[in-house]
Order: sequence, then structure tokens, then C-alpha cells
Amino acid sequence: MKSFNRTTVTAALPYANGPIHIGHLAGCYLPADIYVRYLRMLGQDVAFVCGSDEHGMAITMKARSENISPSVIVNRYNDMMRNSLDAFGVSFDIYSRTSSPKHAEVAQSFFRKLNEKGTLQVRETEQYYDPEAEQFLADRYITGTCPNCKSKNAYGDQCEKCGTTLSPLDLIDPKSTLSKATPVMKKTKNWFLPLDKLSPQIRSYIEGHPEWKSNVLGQCKSWLDSGEGLQPRSMTRDLDWGVPVPVEGAEGKVLYVWFDAPLGYITATQELHGDDWEKWWKSDDTRLVHFIGKDNIVFHAIIFPALLMEHGDYILPEDIPANEFLNLEGDKLSTSKNWAVWLHEYLEDFPGNQDALRYALCATMPEAKDNDFTWSDFQIRNNSELVAILGNLVNRVMVLNNKYYQGIVQEPGTSPSDAHLMASIAVHSGKVSDSLKAYRFREALTEAMNLARLGNKYLADEEPWKKMKTDPKRTAEIMGTVTQFIAAISGIFDPFIPFSAEKIRSMLGIGALLWSDLDGRTLLSPGSKISEPRLLFEKIEDHQVETQKAKLKKTS
Ligand SMILES: [Zn+2]
Repeated sequence: MKSFNRTTVTAALPYANGPIHIGHLAGCYLPADIYVRYLRMLGQDVAFVCGSDEHGMAITMKARSENISPSVIVNRYNDMMRNSLDAFGVSFDIYSRTSSPKHAEVAQSFFRKLNEKGTLQVRETEQYYDPEAEQFLADRYITGTCPNCKSKNAYGDQCEKCGTTLSPLDLIDPKSTLSKATPVMKKTKNWFLPLDKLSPQIRSYIEGHPEWKSNVLGQCKSWLDSGEGLQPRSMTRDLDWGVPVPVEGAEGKVLYVWFDAPLGYITATQELHGDDWEKWWKSDDTRLVHFIGKDNIVFHAIIFPALLMEHGDYILPEDIPANEFLNLEGDKLSTSKNWAVWLHEYLEDFPGNQDALRYALCATMPEAKDNDFTWSDFQIRNNSELVAILGNLVNRVMVLNNKYYQGIVQEPGTSPSDAHLMASIAVHSGKVSDSLKAYRFREALTEAMNLARLGNKYLADEEPWKKMKTDPKRTAEIMGTVTQFIAAISGIFDPFIPFSAEKIRSMLGIGALLWSDLDGRTLLSPGSKISEPRLLFEKIEDHQVETQKAKLKKTS
């Protein structure tokens, strides 16, 4: 077993061509944030880096459709994405962007090194060229008739009507979407990463990680074992938006977006740690973990490690806990069809209630297979778990403490039932810990909520509201015990619902906790004063759910 002294955690760079929706949050930002908050509570050194991915075709296409420059598009969405993720408590140490001059330097120097080492192979190929717009055409810029279903609007890479994967040469009667001209074939030169040649190293790297999630390993194996095996992939593109290729003879070309985007993690770390950045990427005692969605597995498990191996100075990803996809009300989330719950809209409709969504998304996270988010499930999770179990427990403890003792914390008891309740904290924090270490976030959340259930059961069994009249001494012990218990509960829930955890602690008058505090010890000094109760969670009403469902119907 390798031992590590620090962890570099990355979350997939969101693509700056649209706002963030719940699928993005459940796919990688929420699990990454829960994991990082947990590592910080363990007292570990963590760098949590992310930023906007601001290059690539989809951005130039979006800019063209609005008739504005790509930089306007990326500025708009960079701000929006940054604000949404921040509002949901995703606690990046830095949120950078790949259009920064610093990033161009990092990506170019990485490319130069691979080129000088002879890793990259220059190849001449023929590609479609638009003689009127005077530029090479990416696959998406060519439309024509699908050879399979005869739909007239198939793209150069895929027919969206029948789903067939295409190459531009397959299209019947191809047209450039830039000028409507018929494209012509023209020779061009590009720099290829010879994945075929690197295949044995990549295979042994992946086979060295049998502990990875099975959905991740499954995808890697299907790439490696596919009929033709890994194929050389061009790391440069004939485009005008991106990081310029820094070698002679590459004028007018930019780096492939999947060459430059993962290097954005390195740029962000450099911006975060300045001269001290290298240990986060080049030191054997650093663990590198990538949180991504399943559509990015090949780039993080095959192409990026291949680039890092060939460069030679870097550590390789230790784990890539990719999630599958989240669906919405039974259908695939879609930005273009506006079938989504957008974070910025949720914030308007449920102000201050980010934890309800964090909770529901964690509970339905698509960890091993695709999963479905529904507004009804959201309402049930909120009302019958957050409100009825956790909220109810904390509220009863706060109310009774204020009613009986004017908020003065009592000495905890030592009876078997008190000891049993306090001992359950260590048992459950251990279970939550094991699940989080294995990236099983749903299971971890269930165990946290099970602990809150034990608190309610303790109160129901002990009935302090009845004993207050007959046995005030025992009542004080019960209240003293359960008050310590909710302090620990705030720690257990902290990674999942940080806003509410913080609210509990501020009511109790205590600061942030470490995971090692969650072993049943006393966290509040008897005799200290806690505040008046404040509402922790709000009930979600039927009409709110109906409004959200109607909103989806309107846009579909
Ligand atoms: Zn078709």
C-alpha cells in the first residue's frame, strides 16, 4: 500500500457554453466536494482545483449562432458557472479558466516537450475545407444527408436522427455550415499522439488499478480491447479559437481541446500554490484523484495519463471515480432541449435552500448506473428525511433546552442508554468514513441519516417531556446527552449539507469539527449557553413541486 501525504482533487472543467444543471452537480461537483470536505475534516492536505473549459468547437459554434465572439460566450458562462457552484457550496480552492495567458504557456510548454521528445507524430491527412470561408471544417461544421436513414441534417460526426456515428466522408451531398458551400478536400498537417504505440503502457497502468469503480474499468477495457485497439489521435486542430500550437509549421492551428483542458488542472494548481505547486503534481506521496462524468472517462483514464507518462515528470491519476448520468423525470438531461434543472433558477425558486438539493442529489447520485431525479422524490427526501428526521431532532433538542434550562447545556448522563447513544457516533462515523473512502456517497449519506434516526429513537424512548415533571435530574441527563449528540451530528453531516451543519453549530456556539472529534466525546462544555432554535429545513409544499413540473412541461 502506497502512503500519501496530500491529495490533489480535480473536478471536470465545466464547458463554458451553457449554465450548470443538476446533472453536472450530481455527476462530479457534488461528490468531489463531499469527498474534499471529508478529507479536510481528516486534517489532510488537499488542493481542490477546477475552472472553466473555454476552448473547443461547441464554443465557436455557440458564438457563431449568436453572431458574437467566442470570448463573449466564455466570459458570460465562466461567471455564471463560477457563481452557481459557489452558491451551492462547492468549495474549490481555486476556480480558474483555460483561456488565461498563463494556461496557454503551460499547455504550450507541455506540447513542446512532447514534440521535442519525439512522442508526437506529424501526419498529413486530407480534410474538408470550405473554399469560401477559407478554413478547414471540423466534423460538426459539415452537414449532409445521412447514408443510413437519409435524414438531410446529419452532422459530419453523427446523425442525430438515427444515432449513427459518421465520418464527414460518409455524408451524401456535404455542405459547409459556415458558408453553405460544398467543401473540397485539402491536405493538412497535424500532430498525433500515437495511442496505438503507447497501448501496452496504458494497459498496464489501468490493470494496476483493479480497485477502480467497475463502470470506469469497464469503459477502459472496452477501449483497449475494441477490435482495432487504441488509435492515434490528433492533438492539434485547424481552428482559430484555442491555444496556438507552439511549433514551426503549425501556423493557424490550435491544440486539441482534450489536450489543453486536463492541463488546466495543472495551470489552476500553479495559480493556487505559486512556486510551491510542483509537489501537488510531481511528488510520489501525492494522490491525484479526478472526479468526472462517464463521458470523460476515456480522456482522464487513457489520453491524459498517456500524456503525463510521455512527459515523464508527473504522477498519474490514482483514482478516477466517474459517475454515470443523472436523468430528469425519466428523460435524458439536455441543454439544447432545455430539459434540465438549472442551478441559477433553483436558487431563485428555493432561495437559501441549497442543502435540500445537495441532499436529494447525493441520495440519488448515479454512482454505478444512470439514475433519475424527480421533483416528487426531491419533495419526499426533503420532507420525510431532512425535515422529519434531522430537522425534527435538532429542533426538539433546541426547543427543550431553551424551555427547561434557558439554553444552558446540562451535564450528559452515564446510563447504559446514554452510553449507547454516544457510542453509536463512533460506529456511524466509522461507517460513513469507510463509504466515503470508497466513493460510495449514497451509502455514506444513508448511514449519516441512520445516526440521526437513533437520536430520535433515544428521545422517543426516554421521553424527557414526560420525565421533566417526575424526574428532573434524569431529564437534565437526557438533555445533556442528546445535546452532545447533535453537536456530533453536525460534523457527520458537514460534508453533505454544509450550510445546515454550520447552522447547527452556530446555534450550539461551536466551531468547525474534525472527523476525529466524532467518536462520542463531549463537544460542548456543560454550562455553556446555546442560542434560540432556528428553523433548519423548510417543508416543500405540493404547489412548489407542481410549479417545477409545469416549468419542465412548458419548455419541452
Ligand atoms: Zn441517420
